[in-house]
Amino acid sequence: MKPKPKLDKFAIAATLQEIAALLELKGGKDRFKARAYQTGARVMAGMGDDLGAVIKENRLTSLRGIGDALASQIKQLYETGESSVLRGLKKDFPPGIIELSGVPGLSIAKIAALHEALGITSIAELKAAAEAGKIKSIKGFGAKTEQKLLETIASDGERKTKEQRLHLHRALAAAEQIRNYLATAGDKLEIEFAGSLRRWKETVGTIRVVAKTKQPAVLIKYFLRFPLIVQVEEQTRTSCIVRLAEDARVSLVAVSQAEFALALLTETGSQAHLAKLEKLVSNGSAKSKRGKPNTRTTVRASAPKTEAELYRRWGLQYIPPELREDEGELEAALAGKLPEDLLTLDDIQGMVHCHTTYSDGKHSVEEMARAAEAMGMKYITITDHSPTAFYAGGVTIDRLKRQWDEIAAVQETVKVKILRGTESDIIADGHLDYPDKILEQFDVIVASIHSRYKMDSAKMTKRIVTAMRQPVFKIWGHALGRLIQRRPPFECDVEKILDVIAESRAAIEVNGDPWRLDMEPRWLREARKRKIKFTISVDAHSTGALNNLKYGVAMARRGWVRKAEVLNTLSTKAFQKAVKPA
Ligand SMILES: [Zn+2]
Ligand SMILES: [Zn+2]
Repeated sequence: MKPKPKLDKFAIAATLQEIAALLELKGGKDRFKARAYQTGARVMAGMGDDLGAVIKENRLTSLRGIGDALASQIKQLYETGESSVLRGLKKDFPPGIIELSGVPGLSIAKIAALHEALGITSIAELKAAAEAGKIKSIKGFGAKTEQKLLETIASDGERKTKEQRLHLHRALAAAEQIRNYLATAGDKLEIEFAGSLRRWKETVGTIRVVAKTKQPAVLIKYFLRFPLIVQVEEQTRTSCIVRLAEDARVSLVAVSQAEFALALLTETGSQAHLAKLEKLVSNGSAKSKRGKPNTRTTVRASAPKTEAELYRRWGLQYIPPELREDEGELEAALAGKLPEDLLTLDDIQGMVHCHTTYSDGKHSVEEMARAAEAMGMKYITITDHSPTAFYAGGVTIDRLKRQWDEIAAVQETVKVKILRGTESDIIADGHLDYPDKILEQFDVIVASIHSRYKMDSAKMTKRIVTAMRQPVFKIWGHALGRLIQRRPPFECDVEKILDVIAESRAAIEVNGDPWRLDMEPRWLREARKRKIKFTISVDAHSTGALNNLKYGVAMARRGWVRKAEVLNTLSTKAFQKAVKPA
């Protein structure tokens, strides 16, 4: 018989999180241990396998990021509900230390004094005590400190709201953990992501989640027990805003069936889209079959079930979330001119821009091919780096020929068509990195810049224009070289380059690497105006990164890209023909 676990995976994640936070407070070399426990918490909260079975079969250390020490704590927590490490750490700190240490200027000694004098264990209690004037009487605090604390709490909250935007792929990972957790609250729930995450913005300020449930208040209470929550910022019967470890901010709105569609629409935004929508509706430009449609009460009275129904009621086409930025989508929807064939994930037939162990990829040609095949792809382009990218193991001509032999051999064993490609460097003078004689033998060429980013705009423009005018057909890889939150796009005259591409043998890639997401949607729209074609690329350096495809598709949708404008929606033969270098 299976022994009943004392704690489930979420409760274990919460404990590991608490240990991590306390280790972080200790500082010094304990910080490294803190990282490990943080990873452990994430692995636990996100794990799909049955934890009981993993423990029984002694497989914990086979999970990525779980070492022996961590495994033994997890096992302990699972079997006894306690952790010897946590017990030890708790002796060193006053209660509420994790949350309170987030207030700038509060030392551990001060937090201990606050606890001793007033029993304070949270920021909310601290704020209340300061507002009631109770802090100044504590030894070592005084009226000035009290005032300062109140200001700090207020401005810190504001700063966190404003500044900390989470990278899209981290926001998505956190949102998925939340969804997994909420799903354990019972059935008949519907959980949707909203906000900038649903609009696939590069970074996300607040992860917004909307849940449809018969018992909103119960669900909110359940959510507040989510183990990765470190602070509750706001709370009502049907909504809450919390902060997770690592500073993700999450808003959950729980509504009944009747309110769901409108709640999802308003929580999704953007602000600009909603404001314009409201104006259209109240001006009467958009029509309604049942009088004024825009107030919550009238909508609730007739309770549309989906967003599509809401838009339809207002006389508009359905507007996909990726388009809701007030960039002409409402006017188009009103006129019935919104494209109905926006690219979707299902349209993609081939994986473009994949690296292997021949350059800086983690997996072999065969592994990449099989993974693409398993995802239902008809073809895959193997595009390792060219020799100039020596730091990334650029492939010399000798090794290139070996790779071609290997591709031929692997092709015998798989169905997916493997295309011989390269990611050729655009060198400083704008030429590509292999001699023409070699370039012509590829099935596909991605041409990218990997060095000398800091040219002035005129030189950079000339470099790219030269590259695009090369006689071979090429796909412009991660066009403007940006790395989200790390490196801005490089300086060049984008419109001029697009003009050249429009009349050259070239296409532009929409790079799905979540750190790149290049080009930006506004440039994709400029490229569309010029009838330029695109590929949705994964720029995968491992089999796992083939999942970058969804980001590429989302970016393309944000740029209003339609299926017919994307080369890798074509069949294998048509794609090969379209991208053939010479
Ligand atoms: Zn590259
Ligand atoms: Zn690449």
